[in-house]
Amino acid sequence: MDYTWTAARLAFLYLHFHTWLSGHCHLYNNRYAGDKVFRIVPKNDIEAKELKNIYHNLQVDLWQPSSHSYIGKDTVTDVHTSNKTSQALLTYLRQSNIQYKILVNDLQKILEKQNVSRTQRNRRSLSKYNYEEYHSLGEIENWMHHLNKTQSHLVYMFSVGKSYEGRPLYVLKLGANNIVKKKAIWIDCGIHAREWIGPVFCQWFVREALNTYNRDSSMRKILNLLNIYVMPVLNVDGYHFSWTTDRFWRKTRSKNRFNCYGVDANRNWKVKWGEEGASSHPCDSTYCGPYAESEPEVQAVSRFIYKQRKHIKAYLSIHSYAQMLLYPYSYQYDTIPNYHCVASAASNAVHAMRSAYGVRYQHGPASSTLYLSSGSSIDWAYNTGIPYSFAFELRDTGYYGFLLPESLIKPTCTETTIAVKNIAMHILKKCR
Ligand SMILES: [Zn+2]
Repeated sequence: MDYTWTAARLAFLYLHFHTWLSGHCHLYNNRYAGDKVFRIVPKNDIEAKELKNIYHNLQVDLWQPSSHSYIGKDTVTDVHTSNKTSQALLTYLRQSNIQYKILVNDLQKILEKQNVSRTQRNRRSLSKYNYEEYHSLGEIENWMHHLNKTQSHLVYMFSVGKSYEGRPLYVLKLGANNIVKKKAIWIDCGIHAREWIGPVFCQWFVREALNTYNRDSSMRKILNLLNIYVMPVLNVDGYHFSWTTDRFWRKTRSKNRFNCYGVDANRNWKVKWGEEGASSHPCDSTYCGPYAESEPEVQAVSRFIYKQRKHIKAYLSIHSYAQMLLYPYSYQYDTIPNYHCVASAASNAVHAMRSAYGVRYQHGPASSTLYLSSGSSIDWAYNTGIPYSFAFELRDTGYYGFLLPESLIKPTCTETTIAVKNIAMHILKKCR
């Protein structure tokens, strides 16, 4: 037998098979092949102004901050560009001598690499649901139905309405039904579609609440004295789209003028709507929509919270990425009337969170800590009378950005659970 020939034939078959695989099994139709992520730091106002124009002209996808209108001197900007535009941007940066770093050289390669675990994992039964994986909308909905059936002593599932594309907007109510008029906390995840760590956190928190109710006295106290509304995916259409078509989709999926789709669901709330820090252009990623609450998802959630506003003492909205705990105002630099109580709750939560893995979160008013934005959910919730209103920007600070690996789900969610429990305990005490 000719072993050399057999080896050569095997090598040929392997190569052939590999080519076939790479040609047919690419995620998202291979649309991110050669895409790059740059980190760019302008050193003066002139550079910042020029960069804004370049970003606008090249139609780049801004990761952080989310709109070029936020860019000023010293603003670190993470920019995702297609293979084509990255060359144009690179030439410009070199010619203008602007400081930059390439964070990701080929986005498709990272996506494929991270997906290995997902394609190789076995289908598990819902009782062995893996909380350290990202899940599709369908999987999350099945998981919610399962909990509603099997954990009915602590979980009640309901829908607050329907999305633009007609999907139900499910919420889980957690709490022991021992008191009729309980205080409540609202937590929503996945307002922005591509921030996948959000929905993962909501699921993690529900699991923690159910698993530790019997053995952890603080969790028992929280669920006995409070109802916790958890909405794992607020922007369901956008989240689904980020799984099927565009991993970096941010907005909802409503159809707009100029053939553009989607509204920024965190610029669409009825509070200083359409003012500074939101775009009025339908194609922009921070488009505020044609009018306040134009998005059925925002309208449904705001209606529910408004009805429950007497009970809800804290509103929490989970985003990524920046490692920050933010509170109102977003739309102006003024301090909120109960600043003392809110700032101390934030400071305590961030401090507690650090005890888990030593990870530091900044905290402060959204306007001065992140950027000015109008029509945000935290400002709306606060103006509705909810005294504690927070937005979490979870890990990381840009190394992985929206592609936080599944190996970091556990530490990220563990520390965030500590922070949320800390805030829950805070609202059970009186703050003067
Ligand atoms: Zn966000």
